[in-house]
Amino acid sequence: MLILVTNDDGVRSPGIRALAEALHDLGRVVVIAPDRNRSAVGHALTLEHPLRAEELKTDVFAVDGTPTDCVNLGVHGLIQATPDLVVSGINLGSNVGDDITYSGTVCAAMEASLMGLPAIAVSLDTRQFKTEELLGAARFSRKLAMKVLQSGLPTDTFLNVNIPSGVCRGVRLTRQGKRKYGEAIVCKQDPRGRNYFWIGGGDVGYEDIPGSDCNALQDGLISVTPLHTNLTNDLSRQELTGWSLDSLMEKS
Ligand code: MN
Repeated sequence: MLILVTNDDGVRSPGIRALAEALHDLGRVVVIAPDRNRSAVGHALTLEHPLRAEELKTDVFAVDGTPTDCVNLGVHGLIQATPDLVVSGINLGSNVGDDITYSGTVCAAMEASLMGLPAIAVSLDTRQFKTEELLGAARFSRKLAMKVLQSGLPTDTFLNVNIPSGVCRGVRLTRQGKRKYGEAIVCKQDPRGRNYFWIGGGDVGYEDIPGSDCNALQDGLISVTPLHTNLTNDLSRQELTGWSLDSLMEKS
């Protein structure tokens, strides 16, 4: 088995080290990850400058690009073989609800899925890694990876996994919830008297939706959400049929 491991926190994160270590006995594990923290870059792909990959040691590469770049480079350049599985994480902090749209961790798995590869994104709901929790998250990731390698995943499906901190009471199959970001911008002054802004400074909440990833974490449960990339809103599509878009066309 060949497993590609990536993340968005950077190749030096304890999260990716714990993950790679846990997966090691399942096959050849190749780590290809950003050379620095690239959290919240979403599904960004680097097109305007060349990418460099430094092999830090055998099968561990640091890339000066995004998580999506890493998956691309891994599959099409650095490894001369197609991975059987791509695992992204373990991210420092949860990726639930609308976080998914910003998350480099989740979008690395999305990229793998677009390439037709089974993929899992794993995040730990904490602000600071504690060794025991991280090892527990890595052990769960290993078991889930084994399951995916054995059973495969349905077409166009990748898994978003979030692991609670503290006591873990079980696992739940969930759906994407809804975040409440609130007033998340902090404005301060620099030493020269100019304003600067920091996004993401405020507290983040979530809507109470039974069966959601957010609720699962709150209940001390690991959430496993199957995702796909098609964002079409089918309900709205029916409603917008009444717009008769043809009437917007200029008459010739
Ligand atoms: Mn991150």
